[in-house]
Amino acid sequence: LYGSIVGVSFAFLVSAYAEVAQSLGGLERVFELWEPASETEVPVPTQLLKAGPGVSFREVSFSYPERAETLVLDQLNLDIPGGSTVGIMGPSGAGKSSIVQLILKFYAPSAGSIRIDDRDIQQVSTQELCSKVAWVPQEPLLFGFSVLDNLTLGNPLDACDIESKLKEWGFLDFVWELPGGLSMILGEHGTQLSGGQRQRLAIARALLRSPQLILLDEATSGLDSDLEEKVLSAVREALPTATIVIISHRLSSVKGANVIFLVNEGRVVEQGSHDELKSGSGLYGHYVRRQAVG
Ligand code: ATP
Repeated sequence: LYGSIVGVSFAFLVSAYAEVAQSLGGLERVFELWEPASETEVPVPTQLLKAGPGVSFREVSFSYPERAETLVLDQLNLDIPGGSTVGIMGPSGAGKSSIVQLILKFYAPSAGSIRIDDRDIQQVSTQELCSKVAWVPQEPLLFGFSVLDNLTLGNPLDACDIESKLKEWGFLDFVWELPGGLSMILGEHGTQLSGGQRQRLAIARALLRSPQLILLDEATSGLDSDLEEKVLSAVREALPTATIVIISHRLSSVKGANVIFLVNEGRVVEQGSHDELKSGSGLYGHYVRRQAVG
């Protein structure tokens, strides 16, 4: 939504506003979707990120302003290579989603630095981030509009082109079975769809924007493993040069990633490929044994 919201019609924004406010629970949070978190952002002419930007966190510490006494990220170091697929796993509350919130500039770190394609994130304008980064949260926002409008959010995309892309990706077959297909008007929050169908629509919405960096935060949690595999390979095929970040509690989601980061108590405690980590005595090995993945 953060990226897609830019450039949509005023009428859409007014309608969307109420939905966003309800979902996020308040006006302050809504404004963070449009405004940079830090007043120190230096305005620079739009300089487009290259395909598949790398992202690095150096000694990043972070607390949410409303709970300043709790350190959520604790001198965290993380290197996401440009164009790679990375997985992020770890216990609930470890700080995984907070990493994404910082990449999106919803908040600024309390200490340390974040670089995107070797530029300090403060030098990357919010506008540039909006145009190049897509974020798909676990519970995506859908609106009481048609399926098509939910997919485009007001962006001028051709319906025939969308239809052929959806068919090519092959994970949205349910759309053709809906009464009216792409024209069907969804209930508020997409209530006529299952959680997994809403997630698939949100992923398709993100792919249609051709982002260079896509952040999937538990974005396939409502899908069975066959469907999840189909969705993740469609993401890779649709965005061959993009950097893909997959946050998940499920090994099946991250197993194929180039690098998997294990986060615990606000720090990266292990990193490597599935094969490098699976037999270890650390957190990842523990997940492998618990989730019985070979
Ligand atoms: P999960 O796997 O359960 O989604 P996570 O690893 O993604 O967890 P985060 O959502 O990053 O964890 O949360 C890390 C910590 O920050 C938690 O203790 C959480 O309670 C706290 N937290 C998250 N969002 C906020 C917020 N908006 N305000 C204050 N504290 C927050």
